[in-house]
Amino acid sequence: MTAQGRPGEILSLRVRQVIRETDDAVSLELDLAAERSTSIDYRPGQFLTLRIPSELTGSVSRCYSLSSAPHEGGPLKVTVKRTPDGYGSNWLCDNAVAGTVVDALPPAGVFTPASLDDDLLLFAAGSGITPVLSILKSVLAAGAGHCTLIYANRDERSVIFAAALADLSARHPDRLRVVHWLETLQGLPTSAQLAALARPWADREAFVCGPGPFMDAVCAALTGLGADRKRVHVEKFVSLNGNPFEIDTSEVTDSADSAAVEVDLDGETRVLPWPRGQVLLDVLLANGLAAPYSCREGACSACTCRVVSGRVRMRHNEVLDDADLTEGYVLACQAVPVTDTVRVTYS
Ligand SMILES: Cc1cc2nc3c(=O)[nH]c(=O)nc-3n(C[C@H](O)[C@H](O)[C@H](O)COP(=O)(O)OP(=O)(O)OC[C@H]3O[C@@H](n4cnc5c(N)ncnc54)[C@H](O)[C@@H]3O)c2cc1C
Repeated sequence: MTAQGRPGEILSLRVRQVIRETDDAVSLELDLAAERSTSIDYRPGQFLTLRIPSELTGSVSRCYSLSSAPHEGGPLKVTVKRTPDGYGSNWLCDNAVAGTVVDALPPAGVFTPASLDDDLLLFAAGSGITPVLSILKSVLAAGAGHCTLIYANRDERSVIFAAALADLSARHPDRLRVVHWLETLQGLPTSAQLAALARPWADREAFVCGPGPFMDAVCAALTGLGADRKRVHVEKFVSLNGNPFEIDTSEVTDSADSAAVEVDLDGETRVLPWPRGQVLLDVLLANGLAAPYSCREGACSACTCRVVSGRVRMRHNEVLDDADLTEGYVLACQAVPVTDTVRVTYS
């Protein structure tokens, strides 16, 4: 089997099956439309960017995390929850049927554990369970780590993957603990309540995904418990404004006013001129490098790389926090050079 899904490639995916998870959420099982014998590499916690047809704009692009896990070896699976009055999520929930073909960018994102042998503290609310389930299944099946999941939902009927989680808990009683929180019974979880639940596991690597106020409450709880912010990973579910399927790098032209960038990507090192007015991602793509990306607007983290030496400035950043910045992480789609030479790595 060969793997497909190199950065920059556009995948054509066919819906194999639609699974109704709750009243307002469906999972779509997706195969490569052309060659069923190939597989797509991804890491637990990563997402696809789907091109959704629109009679108004031609298409809109939306990111959906993979709820499947790599070790399962089956089709890719994304899980979409309706956003009230949202266009893309409702289009997918109403129109996707077995046989529907959608374009997608390859799996991307950095919301993924460094090791499946680490013990993890997982927080999810609503559709935020999607990448968290992929991580949790991967740790239990392919690693040695223990997981505690704190999972908040409106009510019992809206709990996505309730049966799958019950089954995993029964099969791994000593490695998985699931704590459900239901707003209809307990109200919205406060940071004090979340801290009380999380206290025994606060030294673990943490992964957090859900609505903004939930993630804020979790981060406040973990900070209050003294957790190292570097070990708290968050995934923000935002909608893209631009269309990352349409890339025009023709504007990247040689310029006398260029810095130089040395880049490590896919085991190769290249040195390139970096015109000062251009963002790093465009320079890499224009030079034929398969650099990863999705939103191209500083909102999703798919293009994250690390500055090893030199300095860059980001035009916009909605995803990297102070801890990430201190470690040198930058978004290639927003980075312009400050110093004359810069070294970056994707490893
Ligand atoms: C990394 C990442 C992972 C994510 N994973 C998931 C996941 O696993 N599950 C999940 O449910 N969500 C996920 N999301 C969120 C998801 O990408 C969307 O933001 C969410 O589904 C809401 O999108 P929406 O189009 O329904 O709503 P909105 O973005 O609110 O859509 C409304 C907007 O669409 C535009 N619009 C309205 N009608 C049309 C039309 N006919 N044509 C064109 N445009 C129109 C309008 O401008 C309006 O502002 C993820 C997001 C990110 C960044």
